[in-house]
Amino acid sequence: MNLALEHWHIEVSSICTLKCPRCTRAEVPETLLNRQLTLDFFKTQIGEQRIKQMRKISFCGDDGDPIYAKQFLDIVAWIKNINPTIQLLIITNGSYKGTEWWYTLANTLNEHDEIHWSLDGWDQTSNSKYRVNCDWSSIMLGIITFTVYNKSTYTVIASIAFRYNEHDLNRIKAIAEKYTDCWQLTKSTKFGSKYPQAYGTKDLLEPANTALVAQGHRFQREQTLITDKTRPGDDLKQLFWKRAQTLQKTNEYPALCYIGNKGVFLKSTGEFYPCCWTALRYPHNEKITKLARTKFNLKYKDLDSILEDEYWQTEFKKFDNTECKTKCVKQKLYDKDHVTEW
Ligand code: SF4
Ligand code: SF4
Repeated sequence: MNLALEHWHIEVSSICTLKCPRCTRAEVPETLLNRQLTLDFFKTQIGEQRIKQMRKISFCGDDGDPIYAKQFLDIVAWIKNINPTIQLLIITNGSYKGTEWWYTLANTLNEHDEIHWSLDGWDQTSNSKYRVNCDWSSIMLGIITFTVYNKSTYTVIASIAFRYNEHDLNRIKAIAEKYTDCWQLTKSTKFGSKYPQAYGTKDLLEPANTALVAQGHRFQREQTLITDKTRPGDDLKQLFWKRAQTLQKTNEYPALCYIGNKGVFLKSTGEFYPCCWTALRYPHNEKITKLARTKFNLKYKDLDSILEDEYWQTEFKKFDNTECKTKCVKQKLYDKDHVTEW
């Protein structure tokens, strides 16, 4: 099988004004580069033809927040102009943008798009416990402005369960119920019980309630639907599920990058990866990071030659990376959420 190319995960900015303690910005600061992609990069290195063929772009992380790319609004407008039915998913902490910025975004996105505000608290003090340096008043101004001027885009408030919010999650849910279409709760893996060497055996961020911590090596999510608005992307999920069912019957590696729900990953440095997990700046990813910095970098190479490189049919097929061995395992192919959700 080959890398699935309908869905692209693009780190348009590795810049962020926040300092969340479990973000790679804070965890691996020594190799962090603050970079952003420009409209010119999209026009020349990705190109109109490729944008027309894409069916989904997720703008999120790894090291930054998309809204801090200076030309983000221009990039979004250019993409939607070329491909109005593409599904754009924007994931943001929402801080420090003004009314005009949100008004422009609201007028650019349509019913095929989805936006998530990541809120782990219900006011400045509580949200700052994880979203360190956030700005609650501009977050709320953004949510209100966007939802007043755009009624078609699917809106979500997304929260991670922590020790400090586990008894107050309903307060965040109430904000979601007031303004958005869905509340999403993530049970994270990034806690001491999973990774004691990284987070210690007395991890004060870890929920005391073990039901709020992910069971395996990938996060788990629960969605509470608030409105009956149609969520974009159902057709793609059907395609992903079909591919997973095909993979179940073969001896090919059970790779989510063959299915498409994770999306191939483009970093703000121009580096291309099969998924965002392999791009995380942890030492165990060094081998693939080196390749992406040199051989698979869109700043120096064109996309076709990267995708057609023999590496994807040879060395890559060993799937000997820690991320591959822990995240993509055969039994998970039967878990519909695992193979269809992002
Ligand atoms: S808002 Fe996102 S990118 Fe910014 S520090 Fe937090 S997790 Fe990292
Ligand atoms: S972890 Fe490995 S197998 Fe899984 S999606 Fe990423 S590159 Fe593919």
